[in-house]
Amino acid sequence: MTTSAPRLASGNLKLRLASVAAVLVFAATLLVTLSTLAVAERGMKAVIGDQQYTLLSGAASFMDDRLVERLAQVNALATGIPPGMRTDWQAMRPFLTGQVRLWGADEYLNIVVFDGKGDLRLSLRELPGPAALNARGTDYFERTLETRKAAISRPIRSRLTGNHIVIFSAPVLDQTKKVVAVVTASVDLRRSGFLRQISNLKPGKTGYLFLMTAEGVIIDHPDETRLFQHVGATPGVNVGTERALAGFEGWLEARSKDGSDSIYAYKRLRATNWILAARFPTAEAFAPLDAMRRNAFFSAGGLALAAGLLAWVLVFQLLAPLQSLRDNVAAIRADDAGIEVLRDGRRDEIGELGRAFHALMAEREQSERERAASEKRLQLITDNLPVLISYIDREHCFCFGNATYDKWFGVTAAALAGMPIAKVLGEETAADIYPYLEQAFGGHSVTHEVRIPVRGDPRILQATYIPDHQPDGSVAGVYSLVHDMTHVKEVEEQLQQLARVDTLTGIANRRMFGETLHHALDRARRSSKPLGLAYLDIDHFKRINDSHGHGVGDEVLKEFARRLTVGVRATDTPARLSGDEFVVIFEEIGTRAEAERLAGKIVEAMRVPFRTSAGLVQASTSVGLALSQPRLEQEQLLAAADSALYAAKGQGRDGFAFFEG
Ligand code: GH3
Ligand code: MG
Repeated sequence: MTTSAPRLASGNLKLRLASVAAVLVFAATLLVTLSTLAVAERGMKAVIGDQQYTLLSGAASFMDDRLVERLAQVNALATGIPPGMRTDWQAMRPFLTGQVRLWGADEYLNIVVFDGKGDLRLSLRELPGPAALNARGTDYFERTLETRKAAISRPIRSRLTGNHIVIFSAPVLDQTKKVVAVVTASVDLRRSGFLRQISNLKPGKTGYLFLMTAEGVIIDHPDETRLFQHVGATPGVNVGTERALAGFEGWLEARSKDGSDSIYAYKRLRATNWILAARFPTAEAFAPLDAMRRNAFFSAGGLALAAGLLAWVLVFQLLAPLQSLRDNVAAIRADDAGIEVLRDGRRDEIGELGRAFHALMAEREQSERERAASEKRLQLITDNLPVLISYIDREHCFCFGNATYDKWFGVTAAALAGMPIAKVLGEETAADIYPYLEQAFGGHSVTHEVRIPVRGDPRILQATYIPDHQPDGSVAGVYSLVHDMTHVKEVEEQLQQLARVDTLTGIANRRMFGETLHHALDRARRSSKPLGLAYLDIDHFKRINDSHGHGVGDEVLKEFARRLTVGVRATDTPARLSGDEFVVIFEEIGTRAEAERLAGKIVEAMRVPFRTSAGLVQASTSVGLALSQPRLEQEQLLAAADSALYAAKGQGRDGFAFFEG
């Protein structure tokens, strides 16, 4: 691992932490700002709405007062007509002119008087159109007639000016309370100053007031094209106006027909039931709020930026001990510092982490020391053992080997690693051991012997291969243990040799005789040349023992064997079977005469007194002879010679007899 990886990672951690802190602060600031703004907006809307409604109510009240005032004025005019003048239209004109002069100049457009039947009787100003005019059927006339009280007409278009007017009508009653005339006064709504004044109350710059009848006919509106039109004439729906027509009074927020949101306020006039309405576009109403929102956003952004920077600095400072811990660990890894630097940390989690690292590394160092010591011990043992210890991989290469490889083959442990076994032991030897190795790679422990020259000496080695089983059942390699068996083999061979020699006389014993006879018979069968077998027994040997002791008997036995050995051919094999019984195998004997000649020679040789520690001892031997035949088994041949010996003994000893089958 390179050192740049943790540096990058820690940088990222700092960046991430600082970013998270900045984002959290920004989100929190935004949340607080938005929720505060939402509350403020709600509150502000309520304030603006209430303000609009209060303003509108004031305007409505003003209009109401003016209407009632005018109505009272017209009523007072009607009731003030002297009784004699009530149907005297001629006399009435100067009276009314006089009265009206007292009123404001432009207050009324015209004063018109109708008789009880509705016929026009008097007009203070000249009327355009037909002089004969009847008021029957008009709402104000009919209502005045019916209620005998003053009434206000629907807004109507003036015949005089074409403007929007309303007519105030009041009854003129006679003594019997019968309506004899109706005095009407027309007022131009716009010119009279009555709407002009309220138009001054329009909210903001883009807001306006408008007036409509209870039925929805627009009496006053800044858009003059809509005058006299029903509100429904313009396409679209204004929920506020719909509700106002249904009786709603108050303020609400609604979408106007042009699609913009506005605060609408509605108030009905008591005198006429007309609806006075105010529209205040939200865009203007909440313009300060928008500015406030922008400012708040900028402030929140600035705050978040400052908090982010602060978080960066704080995170940097907070992570400084972590960075120093990392630097310390890196220094320890580079062997520039000891693990002690990890112990003196702060009293916080990072300090704890450092101490935990220290403990971990101390434990690791300790176990590393123990492992190294144990490895050294093991190395010492394996390097000094007179055995080859190695690990061979599947490519038949040494992975490691002990120092014995150096001692035996002159290949150091370092050079051995990765070296093919054929290069160390030679192609021929390697080819010999591959089959055993394959068995070991197949999962079986294998032991075999191999002859390898070690430093020029031919050696017999015994190799044991132990498969290195993996958890998945496969064999990764083979542990090889090879030891020198040469000496053991020599001893073994010596032991085997000893087991075939008679210890007293040094000539072949019964075992070796058996083996030699077996091979000699094979050869005899192959060459068709029979062999002769002489079976010897010392005559009256017991007596020698008895007279001179067992030791002297042994001396005689040894001398007997020696004479036997020197008396026969190099190809012949003398052997002691047991006690005083001996045999001689005469190979390629050819004839009976030849055998008898040899037997005679032996008998002769044994007649010479034996020199012993007890002085000269006389002895003799009897010999039984037999010749091999192709179909004669080994045991049968021996039995034949024994039988001949028996015969020789019977013939008086100190001589030989031939087996007569
Ligand atoms: P014979 O002529 O009939 O063979 O008479 P013998 O006395 O030789 O009788 P035999 O061959 O049966 O006896 C052999 C004797 O050899 C008997 C035993 O005490 C003696 N003997 C056997 N082994 C040893 C030995 O290793 N050393 C000595 N000193 N005597 C032995
Ligand atoms: Mg004997």
